[in-house]
Amino acid sequence: MGIPPSVVYFSFDDGPESHGGATARLLDVLQKYQIRAIFFLLGENAEQYPELVRRIHDEGHYIANHGYSEKHAYKMNDDEFRDNLLRGEAAISGALGFEMNPKLYRPHGGFYNSRQEKMCVDAGYIMVPVTVRAYDAVAGAAEQNNIVNKTINFIEKRGGGLILLHDGRDSYSRRETELAKSPNGAFNRSWIPDAVEEIIIALLDKGYNLNQDIMFLHLIYDENEHFALVKTKKIVKK
Ligand SMILES: [Zn+2]
Repeated sequence: MGIPPSVVYFSFDDGPESHGGATARLLDVLQKYQIRAIFFLLGENAEQYPELVRRIHDEGHYIANHGYSEKHAYKMNDDEFRDNLLRGEAAISGALGFEMNPKLYRPHGGFYNSRQEKMCVDAGYIMVPVTVRAYDAVAGAAEQNNIVNKTINFIEKRGGGLILLHDGRDSYSRRETELAKSPNGAFNRSWIPDAVEEIIIALLDKGYNLNQDIMFLHLIYDENEHFALVKTKKIVKK
């Protein structure tokens, strides 16, 4: 069982960030269309913007762990990986003011090894995959149309899916220097809310269901169509 046909879910990685107010404007767009998304937050960004973390939660979205810092899972040894996972959880729970529940995790790019997966599962996590990549994280504002079209085409090919987009950008520390070099480059996420609205309008027009509650999310586990069902009872907020 996978994501039911014609159902599309949105997920956002590497936030929250406030440069250009991307996360806040994204929340406005999602609220306008009554869509619940999953936000995979970096612990270090959650510490910077706790008010955004609480807003994401208060508006009915799922808060998920993306690790403390931007480091890719395949670049970490076991101890570093566990530390990054648990430190991310502590930072996000600290910003929320309560323990995150359910515990959803996705590493950068969705790549991890089986030992890392076991560590996550042992820590009570459900691994969330990526099924539709827009590659927006390496794109700047000039590529908005291209990313919007690419995303819609992927969805059309699959008949639905779980879209990965980015309201933040990997490496909070490096971002400021990159932004100074290239103000409208890939480290500027301010165009993402507009792109998301265009994607929503196009998909609604094509008859996709974007408003299905993630409580009933059936997540596609990997590229080989091996599916993991996230049980409804696990996706209930305290
Ligand atoms: Zn990431």
